[in-house]
Formats: sequence, structure tokens, C-alpha cells
Amino acid sequence: MIALSLAEIATVVGGQMHDIPDPSVQVAAPVVRDSREVEPGGLFVAFVGERVDGHDFAPAVIEAGAAAVLASRPVGVPAIVVDDVQAALGALARHVVRRLGATLVALTGSAGKTSTKDLIAQVLQRKAPTVWTPGSLNNEIGLPLTALGATEETRFLVLEMGARGIGHIRYLAGLTPPRIGLVLNVGTAHIGEFGGREQIALAKGELVESLPSKDEGGVAVLNADDPLVRAMASRTPAKVVLFGESDEADVRAENVRLTVSGQPAFSLHTPSGCSDVTMRLYGEHHVSNALAAAAVAHELGMSAEEIATALSEAGTLSRWRMEVTERPDGVTVVNDAYNANPESMRAALRTLVAMGKGRRTWAVLGKMAELGDEALAEHDAVGRLAVRLNVSKLVAVGGREASWLQLGAYNEGSWGEESVHVSDAQAAVDLLRSELRPGDVVLVKASRSVGLESVAQALLETG
Ligand code: ATP
Ligand code: MG
Repeated sequence: MIALSLAEIATVVGGQMHDIPDPSVQVAAPVVRDSREVEPGGLFVAFVGERVDGHDFAPAVIEAGAAAVLASRPVGVPAIVVDDVQAALGALARHVVRRLGATLVALTGSAGKTSTKDLIAQVLQRKAPTVWTPGSLNNEIGLPLTALGATEETRFLVLEMGARGIGHIRYLAGLTPPRIGLVLNVGTAHIGEFGGREQIALAKGELVESLPSKDEGGVAVLNADDPLVRAMASRTPAKVVLFGESDEADVRAENVRLTVSGQPAFSLHTPSGCSDVTMRLYGEHHVSNALAAAAVAHELGMSAEEIATALSEAGTLSRWRMEVTERPDGVTVVNDAYNANPESMRAALRTLVAMGKGRRTWAVLGKMAELGDEALAEHDAVGRLAVRLNVSKLVAVGGREASWLQLGAYNEGSWGEESVHVSDAQAAVDLLRSELRPGDVVLVKASRSVGLESVAQALLETG
């Protein structure tokens, strides 16, 4: 964090100082909510959770060297006490980002936020010091904590923003106002909570509505290939930059293909030049993510060559997203168990098939959560797609939704033993252990709550 005294912090958050012997002590180390991450001179934020109360750790974090605790009640050690810790954290972030010399880039979308954020960070980092959201900490707590991690040296701050409903992104964008706002796509993720794709578009579009005007340097980076995102151009005062495979995109991909190992390759076209990209990441969906990152980087002054090199060398920074591991016996395991929605299921299945040319392909799939009324139709459609793409074996894992996946496959025709339904992860592991042959490619994917990463891990342990 940029250095602020305890007295300044108390003023910014409207809090009372308790048990603070010296209000001029500077907080310079990061602000954290996990007591194990406290560094000397840092600030610990005490949240009251369902199982643990952060206030209980106050003595320990002070012992570990923290300058103070941001708390909702006095804790007997140095503390700044406020009514609402979350609001105070937000106020502190807003204050700090105003004083930063960094350009703020924020992104949202239904699928690919974390992947794209990681790509943007890896590209921008080549140009200047960059701070980005770790993992998927994209809500009203993770976002300010990330922003508070920036220092005087930080030039780019890349922030993932997640939306659970109308008004949510507007709130986040108010805490850390971005100059560049990127919307990736409007899919069906969390459609159950939102009540329709138009509602999702309304919520995500708040990001570009909140941008500064074109004259003030605001830039809205929008997906030209997604009609609901493309339409957001009319909702922003900022300059609009389009990315995608469509001809009208400013930053485009041409000659898009997947290499035999499933890695996307394409020719990157920007308004100031072209350059070839071959990615290390797996899956065709990364073309769109890479173009989004390229559009942001181009807007921030990087050349097509610099961007193409960075994209070609970028790896995964976050776990369980199309993590490809080759076992010694030649079985390839693709762990995409971090999460799943209809768009990412389709992208992953197509990648599996591209990677598995001439090999047996297994799709070990589980439930896609939060689909509301669309759940049956979407699981059915994924099951059918597996058949149409000629995936060799579908293993649907779990309860009702898994049976819909299998039924979709069955109804698409010609399937007997090629699609099976097993009750849980262990049953899937048992089946795969007895049936996998050298050379097979196995995709493992479901929503986070299903926990299918245990299947991928078990397969790798026994490899
Ligand atoms: P969350 O809402 O959980 O934070 P996210 O939007 O950050 O998700 P990622 O974690 O990057 O998304 O990816 C989630 C899943 O979507 C992964 O399975 C990934 O392979 C897939 N995916 C990534 N990018 C895209 C894309 N552009 N289109 C469709 N699927 C994608
Ligand atoms: Mg994420």
C-alpha cells in the first residue's frame, strides 16, 4: 500500500482510534484479511464470518507486527474501529487509488474473467510494474484488498469485477474507478440469480457506463463477436475499442486454428500492425481472451509484436483452468475443474476433440450450477454436443444434472456404453482407473461445488 499514517486512515474511514499509542505510525505493508498473511507494518481487517470472527486474531496479528486492526469493536490492541468494516475497506481503497499514479483496468464478463485478467497482467507487466487481482477475488472485499496492494511504483492495476446482480458492478467501479473497462461476454453464468441474459447484460454494462468520457481518456473495450456486449457501445461516454474475429473489430484475429496439442494460434491484427501468436494456454476460448488482452495493451501503448510475444509466452496464473498434464504412460489429463457454465463447457469440449485427434477422448463432466430454469436444457445440450463432436466417452458425474447430461447424449443417438452416469467422483475415478489406455485424453470439468478436481488429482497420482 502507499504509506498512510494510522491517523490518516482513521480519518479516511471515519473511524475511532483505540489503544493506538502513536497515530503517526505509517502503514506501508499490504492490507490483509487473513491473519496468516500479515506483514510487519501492515493493517489487518477483521471480518465477522460465519465460522470465525477475525477479531479473535487481533492480538496475534499485532504480535506478528501489524500496525493496527481495522475492526468493528475495540479489541484491546491497536485498532481503528468503524461501524462497517466492509464499507471502511472500500473507502480506504477509493482514497488510495485516487493517489496512485497507476492506470486502472477493470474487466467483467460471464466466463473468462480470471483467465483474461491473468493474460492482461502478463502482457502489461512487460511494459511497467503491474498489480492484479489474485485468483478470482473479484467482489466488494477482494477488489479493495487488491487495489490496496498497489504502491507508488505501480503503473497498471488490473481488476477483475464479478457481478451477482444489478448495481453490483456500479458499486465496485465506484470504489476503484477504472479508466479502461473491458466486457468479455454475456453468457448464462449465474443466469438463475439474474433472471435472464438481458439482465446480465444490464449488470455487466454498468462497467462501461461508469467510465470517464472519451475526452478524459476513458476506453471501453468490447467484444465485437457478442451482440449483447457489442450493444454496450451505446451505453458508454468512453471511446469504444472492439475486439473479436468479426471484421469490424479494431483488434482482430485472423487465421485462427488450434495446434495439434490444442493450443490456439492466430495472426493478431491491431490498428498499428500485425504479429503471429501461438499460445501456451489450451483451448479455443483463449483466442477471445487474448484479443481482449491485446486490445487493452494496445490502448496502453504496446506494439503488436510486444503483445504477440507476451501472449505467446503467457502461462496460467490461476489453478484448475485447462491445466494439461501428460502422465508417464501417455494419458493426457486436462483439469478444467475450477468451474463450468454452458459456454466454457462447449469451449472445453471442442478443445478436447482438437487435442484428441486420432486418440480416445473422455469427457468427465458434472453439474453446471446456477442455471435456474435453463438447467435441464443446458445440460441436455452439452450431452448432445459431446456426441456431435464425437467425444469417445462421456462420464457424467453426480446427481440429477449428470443424468440430464447423459440423457442428452443418449437422445442425440448412437450411444450405448459410450455414455455412462456415475454417482460421485470416487466412482468416476474407479471407472477411469480400470479403463484408461495409454494415449487417451481426459477432460475433467464441472462447477466449483462439484469438486471434480479430486478426479483429476487421483488420475495424476496413479499415473
Ligand atoms: P468466475 O466467475 O468463477 O470468477 P471467470 O469469469 O473468472 O469465472 P475463468 O476462471 O477465467 O472465468 O474461467 C472459468 C471457466 O471458463 C474455465 O473453465 C475456462 O476454461 C472457461 N473460459 C475461459 N475463458 C472463456 C471464454 N472466453 N469463453 C468461454 N469459456 C471460457
Ligand atoms: Mg474469476
